[in-house]
Amino acid sequence: MKSTVIVWFRQDLRLDDNPALLAAVESGSSVIPVYIWSPEEEGKWSPGSASRYWLHHALKNLDDDLQVKSSKLILLRGPCLEALQMVIKTCSAKKLYWNRCYEPRAIKRDRFIKQTMTGQGIEVRDFNAHLLHEPHTIQNKQGGPFKVYTPFWKHYQNLDVPVPVKTPKQILSPQKWPKSVPVNDFGFIPNIKWYGMINDTWEMSCQGAKKSIRKFIKNQVHSYSERRNFPANNGVSRISPYLHFGQISARSIWHMIYSYEQRQGRITPDKAVVTYLKQLVWREFASHLLYHFPYTTDQPLYEKYKKFPWHRNRKFLTAWQQGQSGYPIVDAGMRELWHTGWMHNRVRMIVASFLTKDLLIHWHQGAEWFWDTLVDADLANNTLGWQWVAGCGADAAPYYRIFNPVTQGERFDPEGEYVRRWLPELSGLDNKYIHKPWEATNSILSGANIRLGKSYPYPIVNHAEARKQALSYYQKIRN
Ligand code: FAD
Repeated sequence: MKSTVIVWFRQDLRLDDNPALLAAVESGSSVIPVYIWSPEEEGKWSPGSASRYWLHHALKNLDDDLQVKSSKLILLRGPCLEALQMVIKTCSAKKLYWNRCYEPRAIKRDRFIKQTMTGQGIEVRDFNAHLLHEPHTIQNKQGGPFKVYTPFWKHYQNLDVPVPVKTPKQILSPQKWPKSVPVNDFGFIPNIKWYGMINDTWEMSCQGAKKSIRKFIKNQVHSYSERRNFPANNGVSRISPYLHFGQISARSIWHMIYSYEQRQGRITPDKAVVTYLKQLVWREFASHLLYHFPYTTDQPLYEKYKKFPWHRNRKFLTAWQQGQSGYPIVDAGMRELWHTGWMHNRVRMIVASFLTKDLLIHWHQGAEWFWDTLVDADLANNTLGWQWVAGCGADAAPYYRIFNPVTQGERFDPEGEYVRRWLPELSGLDNKYIHKPWEATNSILSGANIRLGKSYPYPIVNHAEARKQALSYYQKIRN
């Protein structure tokens, strides 16, 4: 009788470049692919509403892809250790393989499961599928973790990115399958239908990931540096949710880009391409920081920022969440997020700066809202992004850099195309006032069918005054 391996899928919901799956198949054993839903074990950072919606589709897609290989995905409820032990018992499995996760709670859980299972005579093997290089393998010259991005990137430039592993052709089924929970029973699809536009925006499958990245490499990567900051443009890859759920691997993208460049006769990638590769390395930097400084999901990286006198203001927070701040670029971003589960990076920085520096609301509140509404919500990237903007994290924006929502809008959305897309109530306004409707005269506003305070709000704070206040708080802390 063939031995049986459990392959435990987590943030690697794909068959391509999946070392745990390949090792299981190559061991000649029959394979039980398993996914375990165990939100309690992830505490506060269990997947939010938008992530659950994506996860529902990603699991169905993984099951479809496994069925093509004459296998299937077994869905179970946690706790993970108990679920895995149940499969071991019912199917006489002797081996357990998985690809590593790097979030603090996952590390702790996996360590415990590995220890317990090994003690019970189960062969446990784990692999890297999520990152180009794992955090524990990267050190600065002093032998410690990096806290600044530029040297981190320089270090990465000297490392070879491993090539993706091959996709298994066939997956042997076990003689006996454990019982699976139907995916609908997890309740990932909410009763309230807010997700209509998410369906229209995304193809939530591995095939969708490949299509997007191929299209991006062919048509957009060479203009990435010029276009990546303009949210109305199709200048970025929009690959983040696929990377988060592991529907495509970072090293596949890396090698796809290098192969494409070589086919075009370029031995080294050009500047725009390098700018894109650097973004993939920001993702690595985020995981590196979370791995070495696990407390940063809740605490500022630098102790002194603990004293920052954040304001509590439910009215302002709600206005920010609902895209009703009265600053068009901020509101457009927050509405894009609500409708599509995603927001352009430039706008993420603007809305985060507005929350933390204009409204002086704690970055935790922003991180939590993003966590619930982003389809790419990712603990490492989200934590880095919020701490960076709030000025309290690694290699952060200097405290005195406070984005002006008007000039940011004018610079990065000069034609107001992005704002008009998400704020149809302002669509009649011309470019001069599109980022500052309160400066338009009454006759201009009524000509554009706008009643400030009724059809669109007045700004909830005065940016110049808010900026002064934030600077004085930061100055106090620095002193
Ligand atoms: P592209 O510009 O095409 O970049 C390609 C990939 O590089 C991205 O998919 C992402 O994996 C990585 N990347 C790019 N920029 C960053 C960055 N600044 N930090 C880390 N990785 C990066 N990204 C998430 O994936 N999940 C989050 O929860 C998240 N929260 C954020 C919160 C804030 C406040 C900010 C400022 C940024 C956040 N980001 C987050 C980073 C970034 O905004 C997104 O990764 C990016 O917008 C995704 O779009 P894209 O795939 O088109 O990116």
